[in-house]
Amino acid sequence: MCGVFGVRAPHRDVARLTYFALYALQHRGQESAGIAVSEDGRLTALRDLGLVPQVFDEGSLSGLRGELAIGHTRYSTTGGNDWSNAQPLLHHGRARTVALGHNGNLVNAEQLRDEVAKPLGSTSDSEVIAALIADDGRPLEDAVSAAMSRLEGAATVVGLADGKLFGFRDAHGFRPLVLGRLGDDPVLASESCALDLIGAKFEREVEPGELVIADDEGTHSLHALAPSGHGALCLFEFFYLARPDTKLNGVEVHGARVRMGERLAAEAPADADLVLPIPDSGTPAAIGFARAAGIPFSEGLIKNRYVGRTFIQPEQGMREQGIRMKFNPLAEVEGKRLVVVDDSIVRGSTTRQIVQMLFDAGAAEVHVRISSPPVVSPCYYGIDLASEDEMIAAHSTVEEVREAIGATSLAYLSLEALQESTQHPPSALCRACLTREYPTRTPADARKLRFEKV
Ligand code: SF4
Repeated sequence: MCGVFGVRAPHRDVARLTYFALYALQHRGQESAGIAVSEDGRLTALRDLGLVPQVFDEGSLSGLRGELAIGHTRYSTTGGNDWSNAQPLLHHGRARTVALGHNGNLVNAEQLRDEVAKPLGSTSDSEVIAALIADDGRPLEDAVSAAMSRLEGAATVVGLADGKLFGFRDAHGFRPLVLGRLGDDPVLASESCALDLIGAKFEREVEPGELVIADDEGTHSLHALAPSGHGALCLFEFFYLARPDTKLNGVEVHGARVRMGERLAAEAPADADLVLPIPDSGTPAAIGFARAAGIPFSEGLIKNRYVGRTFIQPEQGMREQGIRMKFNPLAEVEGKRLVVVDDSIVRGSTTRQIVQMLFDAGAAEVHVRISSPPVVSPCYYGIDLASEDEMIAAHSTVEEVREAIGATSLAYLSLEALQESTQHPPSALCRACLTREYPTRTPADARKLRFEKV
């Protein structure tokens, strides 16, 4: 996942703006956070493991001065959760120094790491992007364009170099990036909700294959790569990852999730007394299900919001333990037939524990409804879903999954209904983890820690 942000605002406190924007992007990565600034062409970066408020305080922010800034919240998909992999990273190359933040995952990282000059200071796939730009002696625009043409896979990037802010998306546009304005000052962000928080106005999406550069002469853009012909905005962004108040290509995520719930109620009705979500990402679909089915909606499960998202914690042991700290059922579930709505099932361990928790609290029936189809294949583009072996639905029938999670009944939303709920055509989205049809070649070795040995 990861969240990225960039701003060029010579008369504002760019580090402080970035700090608050990162708050709005915290859901995209909780392992590390960082800000880099450019002052008269000199780059400074501060990054560390932890959440945004753990990494920065008043003193550290006021030391970050400049006209340009980028920020990053990290959730690792290549390279361990280590300080050296926190971003924005700084790479000193033969031609320039580059500060860079990356959202996505490259499928040709191994090949590119072999090609770029050593040493690299990190074990992520992101530093090769910075190295390609930093070692290229041509003007920045040409160097970034050339680097973009070498990347395969998912790369939504913000960067600073030569006193300029730049941002781009890969030719498929796997991960979102929007361009906004704070007054006249250009702002780039992973999601439109970050623009709202700092009071910037949404201008437009950065298009797949587009490079945007902001410097003394203004904001200009060029289509450095021809669009792939097959758009591949990640479908997971719609049903799980993006914040509900974000708009993806003009479609508010919350509304899309409500529609998913409505379609789910039509496709897989259940006789029940209450509909409850697994908060928070299941909530809009549960609202839609309850509305369409005419069954009362209940909070049912109370979430402790001060415990991190269990999906994001990298270790299975932490996930298992996390669930009991995270949810507690209300007494009103006792004796009731429940519909429990969630956005997805990947490993199944969280769902199994929640179903058990509800039966322990006295539920008479627990009907699980999922607002996406079964997740059956890994993601190579920036979401650490798990390997196929760990995915409960990869080699099981729906009935076998139902039995494993202990539910009274289980149903998934069809791919067609999910797609229609997003108001995007199939040709605009990546759905590979649901269909096994990947829009790029896939890497032979996709282990997250494959470069740790280097
Ligand atoms: S494989 Fe799945 S999670 Fe990965 S980009 Fe495609 S739709 Fe998103």
